[in-house]
Amino acid sequence: MDDYLQRLRHTASHILAMAVLRLWPDTKLGIGPTIENGFYYDFLFTQSIKAEDLQRIEAVMQEIIDLDLPVKQVYKSREEAVKFYTKWDQPFKRELLEGIEGDRISFYVIGDESSGFVDLCKGPHVKRTGEVQAFKLLSIAGAYWRGDEKRPMLTRIYGTAFLNEADLKNFVKQLEDAKQRDHRRINKRRQFYLIDPKVIGSGLPIFLPRGAYAREKLEQWIVDLYKKTGHMRVYTPHLARQELWYTSGHLPYYKDSMYPAMKVNDDEVYYVKAMNCPLHIQVYKRLVKSYRELPFRVTDMASVYRYEKPGELHGLTRVRSLTQDDGHIFCTEDQILDEIVSLLNLAEKVYSTFGFSDIRVDISVRGGNKDKYLGDSSLWEKAEDMLIKAVQETNFQYETVPGEAAFYGPKIDFHVNDAVGRSWQLATIQLDFNLPERFDLSYTDKNGKQRRPVMIHRALFGSFQRFLGILIEHFKGDLPLWLEFEKVRVIPVTASHVKYATEVKAVLETEKIEAIIDDRDEPLGNRIKRAEEDRVPYIVIVGDKELSSGAVSVRVRNHGDIGLFAIDEFVAKLKEEIESKMIKSVFLK
Ligand SMILES: [Zn+2]
Ligand SMILES: [Zn+2]
Repeated sequence: MDDYLQRLRHTASHILAMAVLRLWPDTKLGIGPTIENGFYYDFLFTQSIKAEDLQRIEAVMQEIIDLDLPVKQVYKSREEAVKFYTKWDQPFKRELLEGIEGDRISFYVIGDESSGFVDLCKGPHVKRTGEVQAFKLLSIAGAYWRGDEKRPMLTRIYGTAFLNEADLKNFVKQLEDAKQRDHRRINKRRQFYLIDPKVIGSGLPIFLPRGAYAREKLEQWIVDLYKKTGHMRVYTPHLARQELWYTSGHLPYYKDSMYPAMKVNDDEVYYVKAMNCPLHIQVYKRLVKSYRELPFRVTDMASVYRYEKPGELHGLTRVRSLTQDDGHIFCTEDQILDEIVSLLNLAEKVYSTFGFSDIRVDISVRGGNKDKYLGDSSLWEKAEDMLIKAVQETNFQYETVPGEAAFYGPKIDFHVNDAVGRSWQLATIQLDFNLPERFDLSYTDKNGKQRRPVMIHRALFGSFQRFLGILIEHFKGDLPLWLEFEKVRVIPVTASHVKYATEVKAVLETEKIEAIIDDRDEPLGNRIKRAEEDRVPYIVIVGDKELSSGAVSVRVRNHGDIGLFAIDEFVAKLKEEIESKMIKSVFLK
């Protein structure tokens, strides 16, 4: 990021803290770093702060900016610094001091040291508060001190600053659009899923009928695609003995992300799985003996459980119980390239179906400290080269990212842009030379020699939870027809048209097009309005005119009335839209 912009935002975060102290002098201060697109500051308030208070804080910030106060660096010895934060009772700052080495500790002062604001900080900052021309406070959230749920919950105030008003306005507009698309907000109205931290637990979603329907369709489709590319479906249990996870290395390396062990007795301890890999390895062990069986591909729509930190949970896109379209390929070293190319092509097909644009690939390789990676260095090099070569054979834009590889192998990540240009990370294809080693996998080659297979982990949706969350945002809740739970709402004009409405519904349902009749005793206009509010893709109105001609009057979501259609024609059109997975109405092409 622009270095000046970074300094500007960092300075704005200090101005925020200064303003908060002017309003509420007893507030305890946490940290105030810059983040992507802005900054935040964490506070422990003596009273509760609401969104309405942000304007008051902004007004005081503006006063500080208008005074154009100098921002200066000063140093204190450790003793002075501790004394400073003891006299002015700031426990979090005292704790931060303990983590800083040396005896020359950097502070920044806004104004002068006796009446201004002094904050523990390495900088850098802009020179005067007046340089902050365009800023805005954005939101309030709770955040545990140091991300630790056993520590106090602080109040985090988010804000941003830009070089000028125009940039700020543009950003706020984008933010507003993203808010409208927030799947958690859309879900309140449309009820795709439910998450109830108090009753069920955080990050453990239930798919309600609407979300379950979309998930089921996605699953049927992806399983079919996998089968067509030679992946055989398997089913695996939700838990397995701890020894298995020690063999795989998930214990102890991944222990923090796994739910605690279940102890049946002293000899039997189980872990709920956070990964499927060790189980698919057992499939390989049982079924594969010779090179003739390679590549060996298995797929599994498998639920795993990962203990994500509370602060990282986010609607459906970051959960603790997730169902992956998981799969593993076991192959010879010579087969890697073809397998990766085939997966890349499949990914292209899957993502373009939803109209995601600008598909990009990151190839994560080892970084500087090569000791932290498991496995032989020459194997790693080979793996990294293969991934790069495979991506080069396709037409994806790509970037090599040093230091981002998982501890057990290099990987490919897919990034796509959604309808409003936001970037999302989707699938991962992970090469793995280490698990076959740990599980001592082998096959007999042409010459009768025992060889080690290579393992490839892959999931194209990632998880159904996350993928549906992203689809809801991408489509602003209006999913493509093939994923919609209620495709058509049939509205009879009066009670005398209910029989015909029932016939229309029956025709739709023989073609597997889900429809609901709204024959409530309410004015037609109200029922149409409700169907529109429910975001039903097609509203079909049947009265005398329609009855006499064997037709239906059709209204398209977000578009309105498109006129009269013979039932057969209407059904044929809808079938076409569903079967070809169109993302726009077939009538608006
Ligand atoms: Zn600072
Ligand atoms: Zn895996």
